[in-house]
Amino acid sequence: MDNPLLEVKNLAIEFRTGQRRLPAVQDLSFTIGRGSTLAVLGESGCGKSITAKAIMGILPTPPARITEGQILLEGTDLLALSPKAFRKVQGAEIAMVFQDALSALNPVVPVVRQIAELYRIHRGAGRKDAEAAAIDMMRAVKIPDAANRAGDYPFQFSGGMRQRIMIAMALALEPKLLIADEPTTALDVTVQAQILDLLAELQQERNMSLMLITHDLGVAAQIAEEALVMYSGGLVERAPIAQLLDRPAHPYTIGLLGSIPGPQHKGGDLPTISGLPPQLANRPSGCSFHPRCRFATELCRSEAPPLHRMSADRTTACHHWKEVKDEYPVAQA
Ligand code: SF4
Repeated sequence: MDNPLLEVKNLAIEFRTGQRRLPAVQDLSFTIGRGSTLAVLGESGCGKSITAKAIMGILPTPPARITEGQILLEGTDLLALSPKAFRKVQGAEIAMVFQDALSALNPVVPVVRQIAELYRIHRGAGRKDAEAAAIDMMRAVKIPDAANRAGDYPFQFSGGMRQRIMIAMALALEPKLLIADEPTTALDVTVQAQILDLLAELQQERNMSLMLITHDLGVAAQIAEEALVMYSGGLVERAPIAQLLDRPAHPYTIGLLGSIPGPQHKGGDLPTISGLPPQLANRPSGCSFHPRCRFATELCRSEAPPLHRMSADRTTACHHWKEVKDEYPVAQA
């Protein structure tokens, strides 16, 4: 990709507990284009949120530590910045929306003041101007009757409205990149669709890049142009979303696709990927997915697969990707 907004290069993150070093993210590289949406997919514990926190500069250190790599925003390595310089990037250049708006918002401060605070701190705005800008932002995220609701506290809003307030706070300083970490997981399906529509609309209006972290391929399909699938701290597949859904090339992606509930599962068990993701301290040899993979061979058990470039915009880390891709949709992980 020419001139991407964000470029993550060979990122490695580990957790230290006592003398132990547990690798949480390994040799992760990807890019996000300007104005585009990348969905980062995978089960809990695969390294998605840790990667997002590293980009945002909010990784808890210790116990986490970035041991290798670069995170380049418009060519500037964020990891080489001083803490003071990184703080200027947070909110203004990169912002983040979390899953649980109720715990991310201050329960004892009216929402307008929480949004206005950003204009006061980062832009030096006076109280009146900051609150007027905050109300405009509440309107931008479609909070009905924004001026009258500005003095309300977070608990006085529904879950969907609280998530809109979080989005208003994240977008207040017009960041170039928004990271949304499971932004709709706690919401019901109707509100989830509304929030995804809102994110897509705001992204287009502002030509902002969006990194959407989700375990839900259905959510990714609604909003993303490209998807990156992570497993056990590494990238296993990257592809334009339509190609990924149509013809996945990694058995783990096939498992995720097969786990989307549909009308055919009504009244029966929901499909799942057999087994559990490996513990950080106990990764299997070779391909970390091999204990759960029906395609696994002796090669998979002994050698970690390299990243194969399938085409200009697709990569996968599977020794047998050609057979896997050809067998789909008959193939199931
Ligand atoms: Fe399965 Fe082997 Fe591919 Fe790993 S490398 S996903 S074990 S087929």
